[in-house]
Amino acid sequence: MRDWVFLEGKYHKKVDVWQGGSLTMTGRATLIDSSLNNSPTYHMSMFLLPKTVINRLDSIRRKFFCLLCKWWWRLQNEDGIWQRIVRAKYLFGQPIGLVKAKHSDSPIWSDLLKVRCFYISSRKLLVGNGCGTRFWQDKWLGAGALCVEYPTLFDLWCDKNLTVAQCAADGWRVHFKVSLPEFLRQQRYALAVRLNSIRLSSEQDKPFWLKSSSHVFSVKSLYDSISGNESSVNLLYIWKAKIPQKIKFFMWFLHHDSILTRENMVKRKWQGDSTCVFCACLETSDHLMFECCVARVTWGVVATSFGVSTIPTSYKKFWRWIEVALPGGSQFFTLGLAAIC
Ligand SMILES: [Zn+2]
Repeated sequence: MRDWVFLEGKYHKKVDVWQGGSLTMTGRATLIDSSLNNSPTYHMSMFLLPKTVINRLDSIRRKFFCLLCKWWWRLQNEDGIWQRIVRAKYLFGQPIGLVKAKHSDSPIWSDLLKVRCFYISSRKLLVGNGCGTRFWQDKWLGAGALCVEYPTLFDLWCDKNLTVAQCAADGWRVHFKVSLPEFLRQQRYALAVRLNSIRLSSEQDKPFWLKSSSHVFSVKSLYDSISGNESSVNLLYIWKAKIPQKIKFFMWFLHHDSILTRENMVKRKWQGDSTCVFCACLETSDHLMFECCVARVTWGVVATSFGVSTIPTSYKKFWRWIEVALPGGSQFFTLGLAAIC
């Protein structure tokens, strides 16, 4: 093991140089893939790298992206010279979720904007004066954002970029484009009752980190959360597959059963019909992807083309199906599921 320490040293050295550089996200990704891969590829052509070394090199690559998110945390939690300059130049007192990308942005700032969604989704705001918090889209009142808790009210809301401070200044009154039907009036009342107990202060809004028990940002907690459960071999197959990034994310959502099926939308208080459009069954993610007659036909075509006589009937069974139907072919069949997604 000690023989490979030099390789990790090389990795760290390269990443350190780029962290302060002015590369774009795509540039960084390309450099990581081409340059960082070269050293191990060269050495692996002569020696078989121990698995622990491979995992450590992989870990350095992913941490590099999480480190970018740390800048958001430092911007919102610390008060130094660079924070004041950045706030004055880019934020203008508005919530970070409302900052728009501009052509004149520095390369580092535009990179930070690209990882902003990872940061925002993993933090909740402790509201002080409410100026730095988006009323609907930031997590502040309950466990999730209000736009997820009350999706129909959010759709009908006049000003989607309203801040908590603006709403409080208006006496927590809620304005809608149209007059609401009875069930939405009940939702609006429930929301108004919750808002009634909120008192703003003169303090700045402060973030707390949802991915660690200490509620303080750590690169590791974000790293674990965007990689999913690292012990899950299935997720590793998804992330490592040579498929478009958006399909990887779709499969990751499918893995966590959080794709927008009718069943999941009803759980989020959507008022529509939860049955499948092709048959009369409840549209769960397993139904949509595996059980429905349309999905079964699609899987039948995939199975036939690979010379397999059975098809998977659920997401869990999909991974077992791969092992039985094609031992050692998990990576290959990840492409199959991706194609169907
Ligand atoms: Zn169906």
